[in-house]
Amino acid sequence: MDLKKIEKVLAKEPPFRLKQVKKALFQDLIENWNKATILPQNLRQKLSENCPISESKPEKILTSKNNQTIKVVFGLKDGLKIESVLTKHKDDRRTVCVSSQVGCAIGCRFCATGQQGFKRDLTSSEIIEQTLFFARLLKKEKEKVTNVVFMGMGEPFMNYDNVLEAIKILNDKEGFNLGARRISISTVGIIEGIKKISQEKLQVNLAISLHSPNNKLRSRLMPINRKYSIEKILAAVDDYIKKTKRRVMFEYLMIDGVNDSEKEAEKLSKILRKPLYFVNLISFNPIGHSQFKPSAGWKIKKFKDILEKSGITVTQRYRFGREILAACGQLTGRIKNGVNPV
Ligand code: SF4
Repeated sequence: MDLKKIEKVLAKEPPFRLKQVKKALFQDLIENWNKATILPQNLRQKLSENCPISESKPEKILTSKNNQTIKVVFGLKDGLKIESVLTKHKDDRRTVCVSSQVGCAIGCRFCATGQQGFKRDLTSSEIIEQTLFFARLLKKEKEKVTNVVFMGMGEPFMNYDNVLEAIKILNDKEGFNLGARRISISTVGIIEGIKKISQEKLQVNLAISLHSPNNKLRSRLMPINRKYSIEKILAAVDDYIKKTKRRVMFEYLMIDGVNDSEKEAEKLSKILRKPLYFVNLISFNPIGHSQFKPSAGWKIKKFKDILEKSGITVTQRYRFGREILAACGQLTGRIKNGVNPV
């Protein structure tokens, strides 16, 4: 679904046609142009011939036992594959986790996508199509997508322009009409991206994948830290907060014996004790033959207590979709008998 192509086809039509098309695509969630009965037959025909609604095909749909998580493997038109995940929270949130790239060049040691290498950036249409697929699925249950997070495959700020274009389409009142505050971007700390997004007139949420309070360990877990050190990232985040007055989330994967000691919690407390910072602790999700293991529950609790005692707000991400490999860091687009081969 390429909006630019659609605009070209509609170039000679009166302006209200574009509004009708956007309503059909993003609110009525049509799957083929014949369903857009408000449009004249010849226009529907022209759109069908030139502007396919979905170029990404859902090839595999996996649902967790408790029905709370649905992972979809999409085949793209060049044969590559990506994954996206819908999480149905106990409250009314219905969150779609979208991919922004096929594979990822960042190579975080704990991440299945990172082990796969980088193939290419996704177009804004390919990003939007992931969301629309779940929106159609939820519509059948009389529900809606309430949140979109860029936490799937890829580093969103390495594909800044397409990610931003997708966000604008999702946020468009005549289109999908999802509030910017319901959209979150998670980055490893690409400084240029943090600077750019602070200048956009969009109130999207920013999350930083930190995972360590010191550079030595962080560089071991995330080699990108050699370029974007913790100090540089925090300076960029402070600047972002100054401009936007928005809170920033720091994501911290709890990996057994690696980054979950009391010493690390204390160091983290020191560097993150600032008014608009908050921490999200995430239990590590084992991937393939990974050397890493998740921290024990009691260790996570202790870590959390230390942060909270120092005045930091801490949230904890629950383990969604682990058995279908739909959890954080487990997306690879390759599934063999339900297992991501990493
Ligand atoms: S965690 Fe994110 S940035 Fe790091 S390798 Fe995985 S997809 Fe890329």
